[in-house]
Amino acid sequence: AEALLQSLRGQENVTKDGRHIDVFANVGSVADVGLALQSDAGGVGLFRSEFLYLENSDYPTEGEQFAAYKAAGEILAGRRVIIRTLDIGADKQIGYFQLPKEENPALGYRAIRLCLDREEMFKTQLRAILCASAFGNLAIMVPMVISVEEVRRVKTLLDGLKAELREQGVKFDEGIPLGIMIETPAAALIADELAQEVDFFSIGTNDLTQYTLAIDRQNAQLESLYDPHHKAILRLICRVVESAHQAGIWVGVCGELGADLSLTETFLALGVDELSVSPGRVLAVRRQVRACDLSRREEILAAIGR
Ligand code: PEP
Ligand code: MG
Repeated sequence: AEALLQSLRGQENVTKDGRHIDVFANVGSVADVGLALQSDAGGVGLFRSEFLYLENSDYPTEGEQFAAYKAAGEILAGRRVIIRTLDIGADKQIGYFQLPKEENPALGYRAIRLCLDREEMFKTQLRAILCASAFGNLAIMVPMVISVEEVRRVKTLLDGLKAELREQGVKFDEGIPLGIMIETPAAALIADELAQEVDFFSIGTNDLTQYTLAIDRQNAQLESLYDPHHKAILRLICRVVESAHQAGIWVGVCGELGADLSLTETFLALGVDELSVSPGRVLAVRRQVRACDLSRREEILAAIGR
């Protein structure tokens, strides 16, 4: 691994025929951010902020969150860090949230639904990210979106918080990008409209597979049916990329599928701009990109029915 790292360090992630793609890392703690850097990832494509809430016995304060986001930005020293806003609920339960018991948690009260419902808690997180954006190359990403309305509500909250910070003379990045995860079939199918509202997309194939195939990703009995290679998923990804590019925004893949080397060439052929994978997979994906040749592009697209 060390030899591989050395041979790839500083090398561009480019295919044999010259197409570039960003390879970023998914992290779930500040310590992981160091790992991302060690593996020479171009940035952090998914910073799962849940750990801040899971580690605590009460809601993390704005100051605690600020410190973590600032540290991530500083460690990455100018490389992009995409902070995903709280994605709690479903399989991730926290006692002090006192969430109601649900028949179908995966189809229930989670992520952006919960955040828009608990506005003060959500604003605390957004303010912490905005304040930390003065110290690094941060971006905000919202999980589990199903509608334009949700995105507009997030933007209204952000606009209000930015106005307050300006008034108080607190520095933040005025141009901080806002993106969303595309991980529900609804979001994938209205990606053209969503693309008008945000700066980037990141496709969450773990949930997109779960919701498209109607298969609980936690259900061991259905594991053999949980197939992210299903044509339905690949066709959705293809549509999302087209919608993003038509609107002039970039699109990445941050679900586990992004690290699937048998699909690297397909993602490149579809036009995906970024792959964000666990730190331990960064080098393998970077090496695979350099082995790809997109002269077979038409064939690859035909295979998924495009
Ligand atoms: C996904 O759903 O693909 C994703 C990256 O988010 P998580 O696995 O945290 O739900
Ligand atoms: Mg998800």
